[in-house]
Amino acid sequence: NVRVRFAPSPTGPLHIGGARSALFNWLFARRYNGTMIVRVEDTDLDRSTLEYEELILDSLRWLGIDWDEGITVGGDNGPYRQRERLDIYQPYVDKLLESGQAYHCYCSEEELEAERQELSAKGELPRYLGKCRDLSIKDKEEKCALGVKPVVRFRVPEGQQIVVDDMVRGRVSFDSDGIGDYIIVKSDGIPTYNFAVVLDDALMKVSHILRGEEHLSNTPRQILLYEALAFELPRFAHISLILGEDRSKMSKRHGATSVVQYRNQGYLPEALVNFLALLGWSPEGEEEIFSIEELTRLFSLERVSKSPAVFNFAKLKWMNSHYIKEESVERIFPLCLPHLQQAGLAAENPTAEDLDWLKQVVGAVKDKLEYAAQITEHAAAFFGEEPELDQEDEDAKAVLALETSPAVIAAFRQKALELQEWDGETVKAILKGIGKEQGVKGKALFMTVRVAVSGRSQGPDLNALLTLLGPQQVARRLEYTLK
Ligand code: GLU
Repeated sequence: NVRVRFAPSPTGPLHIGGARSALFNWLFARRYNGTMIVRVEDTDLDRSTLEYEELILDSLRWLGIDWDEGITVGGDNGPYRQRERLDIYQPYVDKLLESGQAYHCYCSEEELEAERQELSAKGELPRYLGKCRDLSIKDKEEKCALGVKPVVRFRVPEGQQIVVDDMVRGRVSFDSDGIGDYIIVKSDGIPTYNFAVVLDDALMKVSHILRGEEHLSNTPRQILLYEALAFELPRFAHISLILGEDRSKMSKRHGATSVVQYRNQGYLPEALVNFLALLGWSPEGEEEIFSIEELTRLFSLERVSKSPAVFNFAKLKWMNSHYIKEESVERIFPLCLPHLQQAGLAAENPTAEDLDWLKQVVGAVKDKLEYAAQITEHAAAFFGEEPELDQEDEDAKAVLALETSPAVIAAFRQKALELQEWDGETVKAILKGIGKEQGVKGKALFMTVRVAVSGRSQGPDLNALLTLLGPQQVARRLEYTLK
């Protein structure tokens, strides 16, 4: 009975790494007809907000990751926010305190810092050495009288090897003597991550814990708690870190790191899902394009890699452009519109007619887009009245300098002036007619008209450009160029 969970901390937007963990859990649940749980780890009171929680859940939904139990949907093991579970945790704290597996610690920050310094100076790992392990009742009363609020520390057994039997990394072993008694409840009464996560996972009967490698060092601490509380151990699988192309840990420096940024730039969720699925997992064979349904059929932990995954932006863009090409303009247009509006190329409240025209513009360049925000660049030729010649565009300059060009441009302008409207067929016939009359063809004809209309030798399909600009706009632009 597979039960997995995604447990974000609402201290920021959903990051690429978190999204990948969520996706792997979700794929695993769907592949094995299991249960996907989403719960919120909000014990960091200062940094957790409901806004971030909402943003994270939104990003999950946008990606197409749904859940069967947890926050917003409910279930038998709620509540699903740690802050609302404090009463659930308390008996377990009491139990550990009573059995002596946990104890109150009154050390001040200064004392702890001094201990850390001392250990570092000796070249040892900084850790808590257990000063308050065996305080007498009298010692404790004195501290309490002084108003010191204790933390609760877990008594780490000495001289033990703790083995994490990881489904991805194999057996990884940790020496308990390197750990030091760690805090399970802070002085404000709020449990720490390592404690709350164990109780949540155990009480929610989570069978498999799939999470990022950055949590591997927490796992022995958590295993000790499972043992102390006599909970059945789940299976663990730690997924490799995501690195930037320079092989350092992926960060803002490398590019967008949150899902919502990709969404805003106009990536499609199915492209991001496809891309994230391949960050550390690969199916058999060479194929790289997978729908989310295919992924749920193919995913397995056996093919999750131990080596770090490199986030390749070029590949993501390639994948996204693939999905954009497959999609209808109806789907892509709404993603482009806000970018056109931000750039001042579309009105805030476009009329139905404007929308229709803008949609055709998007349709004309859709297949060149890697992501929707690029629309402003690729559709630039459709906007403005005065086509400035791009001075760096050698082909454009060369074609305008041809002996035949002024006559071609003038003739085309003449035709445009004669018409109120035109369609693709008309435009094609006009170009053909002028070619014949003037004895020009190929670049001397088509590129000349393109440059005269847009100032550049490259751009959208010429017929679509001319058709959508319409005869009046084309005539105006050509007049400007001829001046
Ligand atoms: N709240 C933790 C995080 O966001 C989850 C850790 C876990 O999956 O155990 O990193």
